[in-house]
Amino acid sequence: MRNFASLVSNFVQRNPTRLPILVSGTAITLATISASITVALGLNHNGALFIATAIFISCAIAVPAGIIHYMREVEIAAHQEKLQELAATDALTGIMNRRTFERLAEKERARMARTGETAAIILFDLDWFKSINDNFGHAAGDEVLRTVAGLAGGVLRRPVDALARWGGEEFAILLSGVTPAQAYGVTERLRYTIDMAVFEEVAQGLSVSASFGVASFTADTSLHNALSEADRALYEAKKEGRNRTVSRTDAERKVIALTR
Ligand code: GH3
Ligand code: MG
Ligand code: MG
Repeated sequence: MRNFASLVSNFVQRNPTRLPILVSGTAITLATISASITVALGLNHNGALFIATAIFISCAIAVPAGIIHYMREVEIAAHQEKLQELAATDALTGIMNRRTFERLAEKERARMARTGETAAIILFDLDWFKSINDNFGHAAGDEVLRTVAGLAGGVLRRPVDALARWGGEEFAILLSGVTPAQAYGVTERLRYTIDMAVFEEVAQGLSVSASFGVASFTADTSLHNALSEADRALYEAKKEGRNRTVSRTDAERKVIALTR
């Protein structure tokens, strides 16, 4: 009996909104049992009316309680979805964050193991960003990051390709189903788009460029290795003078100088 009581008490504590359902369910059962007994013993000729009244009162409690409960569940589900979305994206730019990107890249690697396709990982970093902040203010710097994220999103084939804020003024891209030459082509297009973009609305006299490191990514390459290769290529692009793409996808390393 004590076990049953603690079971009910636990249930109510875990599901407070189901209490009215429990109460009305119990009321229906008790009313039905007592009405059946009284009718069977010939004590009450209006047993059917008694049962109908008990069911009506119980439903009057249970139906609104059920609706309230359902609405609460919907609200909680929407809240959880929003939290998941916030945890997956970068607050400043609205694009995916590093953790989401890594998870997605691992999924892509598993897919490539089945299809035999190849992909590319690109890391890019804005050039001289510290002086943009120093000269035009931190708010302008933030706006530049948002604009660059938008420009990159426009160049990529969403949702096949993925774009993430890697941290600070650094971004990561996963290009799916591309050859090294195609990856290089897309990267150069993005570099050129950023270089040519007009930032006058953010601040007068402001221009932005970025350096890019490209590495191939296949089912046989660990994500960690592909990222290290891309990072090394990015470092070389900075060292070679910035605003350029270095690709480590080919056997011979390619350094393409600024085309402008
Ligand atoms: P390099 O060409 O070598 O990359 O030079 P850099 O100035 O871009 O690189 P550095 O690492 O010296 O400076 C990065 C700057 O980016 C410093 C930091 O304050 C700024 N930064 C990082 N995150 C944010 C951000 O969210 N908003 C703004 N406005 N600035 C940021
Ligand atoms: Mg930088
Ligand atoms: Mg940096």
